[in-house]
Amino acid sequence: MILPVLQYPDERLRRKSQPVDEITDEIRELASNMLETMYDEEGIGLAAPQVGHFIRMIVIDISPCYETEEGNVEDNGEPPMPMVLINPELSFSGATVKSEEGCLSVPNSYRATVPRREKVSLKALSLDGDPIELEADGMLAICLQHECDHLDGKLFIDYISRLKLNLYKASLRKLVKA
Ligand SMILES: [Zn+2]
Repeated sequence: MILPVLQYPDERLRRKSQPVDEITDEIRELASNMLETMYDEEGIGLAAPQVGHFIRMIVIDISPCYETEEGNVEDNGEPPMPMVLINPELSFSGATVKSEEGCLSVPNSYRATVPRREKVSLKALSLDGDPIELEADGMLAICLQHECDHLDGKLFIDYISRLKLNLYKASLRKLVKA
């Protein structure tokens, strides 16, 4: 089932999500619906709070895309490789890198360049409750940082300058009036 994705400036996107205590059928169904929604929207990640569930669960699939030299994400025809991560925790390392991002919760396909860390170590649980530990760099590291931010009520536009944010907000207001 495709779920509606909350859109900025919806205040619910600012809520802090709670850890998952028990992986129930309801959680498994939500994970499957989140993946379906993410693929339908052609996103590479989605966090539970974006679909109105304030629990620490994210889904990611970066396999069908690659990053071009210009930093764009393009389809590479690879088969999908969905990841469901429950209670993800990141620790950061490596340099600060520039990342051009968009978000399914930020309207008008707005994109901006934000700072991220080059590498992350991830600890999480799988949908079966098995521990997952991995080191990530490249697009996976960026995507993990973006999605985990959602669990703490943070959006990528929080990293841009006030001037850029005000320009973006003004463009949204214009659209609403039109
Ligand atoms: Zn997002």
